[in-house]
Amino acid sequence: MPIQLCEICGEETAHKEAIVQKPSKYGKSKKEQFKAFLSGFFLSDASVSDLSHALTDRYVICEKCGHKKLENIRE
Ligand SMILES: [Zn+2]
Repeated sequence: MPIQLCEICGEETAHKEAIVQKPSKYGKSKKEQFKAFLSGFFLSDASVSDLSHALTDRYVICEKCGHKKLENIRE
C-alpha cells in the first residue's frame, strides 16, 4: 500500500492501486480485432511489457477521500 501525498487531503495517506484497461481504439468486430492484432504484431520495437503499459492506465486511489489520480509510470 503506497503512502503518497494526496492533494485533496493535503497530507500523506495510504493509497490503493488500480489498473484500468484503456478503451481500445479498435472496434469490437472480428475484422477490427484482427486489425488490432496485426498492428500489435508489427510493433517490433515494443516489448510485451511496453505494450501492456500502453494499453492500461495505472491509478492510485486515496484510501481516505477516494481521490483518484492517474499515475502511469513506466518501469
Ligand atoms: Zn485524500
